[in-house]
Amino acid sequence: MAGILVFVEQRNGVIRQASLQAISEAHRQAGGDVAAVLVGSGIGDAAAGLGAFGAAKVFVADDPNLARYSSEGYGEAVAKAVESAAPDAVFFAGTAMGRDLAPRVAAKLGVGALADVIALTKDGDQFVARRPVYSGKAFATVDSAGVKPQVISLRPNVFAAEQTGGSAEVVALDGLSLAIRAVVKELVDTGGGEIDVAEADIIVSGGRGLKGPENFALIRELANALGGAVGASRAAVDAGWIAHKHQVGQTGKVVSPSLYIAAGISGAIQHLAGMSSSKIIVAINKDPDAPIFKIADYGIVGDLFDVIPPMVEEVKKLAG
Ligand SMILES: Cc1cc2nc3c(=O)[nH]c(=O)nc-3n(C[C@H](O)[C@H](O)[C@H](O)COP(=O)(O)OP(=O)(O)OC[C@H]3O[C@@H](n4cnc5c(N)ncnc54)[C@H](O)[C@@H]3O)c2cc1C
Repeated sequence: MAGILVFVEQRNGVIRQASLQAISEAHRQAGGDVAAVLVGSGIGDAAAGLGAFGAAKVFVADDPNLARYSSEGYGEAVAKAVESAAPDAVFFAGTAMGRDLAPRVAAKLGVGALADVIALTKDGDQFVARRPVYSGKAFATVDSAGVKPQVISLRPNVFAAEQTGGSAEVVALDGLSLAIRAVVKELVDTGGGEIDVAEADIIVSGGRGLKGPENFALIRELANALGGAVGASRAAVDAGWIAHKHQVGQTGKVVSPSLYIAAGISGAIQHLAGMSSSKIIVAINKDPDAPIFKIADYGIVGDLFDVIPPMVEEVKKLAG
C-alpha cells in the first residue's frame, strides 16, 4: 500500500466523530488506498463499521494493556500498523489524544509532523498542508520536505465525514512489544452525560459577562434547547465558574461547529483562536465595539440576560 493510514480513536468502543472525518478526508485524497488502525481492548466489533467511511483495511490492536490510552502503548501499535501498511501518509484527528500521539509516532518513525491542518492539497506525491498560526491571525503552508510517511493531524470538524458504503477487511495486529512505563490506573468521567465541546455541532459559550457561575444555567438552557454543548471563555474558567474542559481557545479546545453562540465574551484573540473556524458565529454582547462582532455573522447588541430567555423560548417553540 502507498496510500493513507488513519489512526482511529475510540472511547469505550465508540468511534469518535473526528476520526470518521479523518477517514473520509483520507478517502477523498487517496480513494481506495485507505487503511485504519484501531487500538484498545475489546474493540474488535467497531472495526468493520469503518469500511462505510472509506477504510479498505482496518488493523486492530486489541490488548488488555491498551484498554486505557498511553502514548507509549498506542504509539507502538500505530508504528506497527505503519510497518505493515507502509503508507505515504498517516492521519490523526487533532483531538487531545491525536495531538499527543501524532508527534510520538512521528518521532518513532524519524519524521516530522504537520499539526492542526485545516486544508490539504497535493504537490506531486506530497501533501501540502494549510494550518493556522499566531492564534489564527495567519495561515502557514507547510510540507514535509519530501520525507515519508507524512504524519498529519487534522483539525476536528473542518473536514466532513461522509459514508462511502464500502466494507473493510479486518486484520489483527499481532506481535506488539508493549513496554508501557507510564500506566493510567483510573479514569474518572466528569462529563455527567454532557456533550463534549470538541465533538459538538452547536456550541453556546459564556464569558465574564455572565457575572457569576449561577448564570451558566442560562447558557445551559439555550445549549440544551438547541441540542448543543456548553463552552466558556478562559475568564469564566479562571474565575472557577465552570470546568476547564469547557474552555474554548488557545489554551482550551479548538472547535469548528456549525453554530457558535458567544454570550458575554469580548472576543480576545486567544478565544478567537479556538472558534474562528466555526461556520456561523452569533455574538451577544452589550458593547457594540466588542471585537467579537468583527468575526460574527450575526451580532446582537444587548444585555444577554434580556436576550437569551426569549431565544430559549423561541427555540423550544420551534422544536416543539
Ligand atoms: C497565553 C494566553 C492564553 C489564553 N487562552 C485563552 C483561551 O484559551 N480561551 C479564552 O477564552 N481566553 C484565553 N485567554 C484570555 C483572553 O486573553 C481573555 O482574557 C479572555 O478570553 C476574556 O474572556 P471574556 O471575553 O469572557 O471576558 P472579557 O474580556 O472581560 O469580556 C466580557 C464581555 O462581556 C460583555 N458583557 C458584560 N456584561 C454583559 C451583559 N450583561 N450582556 C452582554 N454582554 C456583556 C462585555 O461587554 C465584554 O465584552 C488567554 C490569554 C493568554 C495571555
